[in-house]
Amino acid sequence: MGHSVFRKDSKCKFLYREVGFLFKRRLWRFYTGNLQSQDEMDEDKYKEFLANQQKTPMRVVSDSSSKKCWWMFRGEFYVEDEGYSMIEVAALIMDMMQKKEKKIHRIIARAKQIESDSLPVRQPIPDDVKILVWQRDGGRCVECGSQQNLEYDHIIPLSKGGSNTARNLQLLCEGCNRSKGANLS
Ligand SMILES: [Zn+2]
Repeated sequence: MGHSVFRKDSKCKFLYREVGFLFKRRLWRFYTGNLQSQDEMDEDKYKEFLANQQKTPMRVVSDSSSKKCWWMFRGEFYVEDEGYSMIEVAALIMDMMQKKEKKIHRIIARAKQIESDSLPVRQPIPDDVKILVWQRDGGRCVECGSQQNLEYDHIIPLSKGGSNTARNLQLLCEGCNRSKGANLS
């Protein structure tokens, strides 16, 4: 089996020439690379063609020497050399779109992975620092004095370059810590 071709062709276009003297009419012709269609379409036929290619893939032109055939679907041009039917071309385009979508999803997933990998690793607070902070703050929330549900709070968050030093740590109760977090964000 040879290499069959099915791909988008971005070199394609329709161009018109004007004919007539008093009543000018446009005649449309298809061009791709060095190839052009033999037939021309008048304005009505061209409009009908554009409306139809919104619904199903439409054969534009075939080249007998290269056995290539050009199709148009929703403003995009495709070229193939297998003599596919309209249904087959529609299936190939659908497949192409799904692959593209999957590729985009893979790229987004990878970008997210890289982002989470590059977040600073959260190092635990050393025990001696914990004891120091606990003693300094008197075992109470520095905001409200509560002795319940105490947490070690980073004054400058680790994500913003803060460190696990006693200077950067304080005791906060859960409630005060939450409201601090809410104020920061
Ligand atoms: Zn508190």
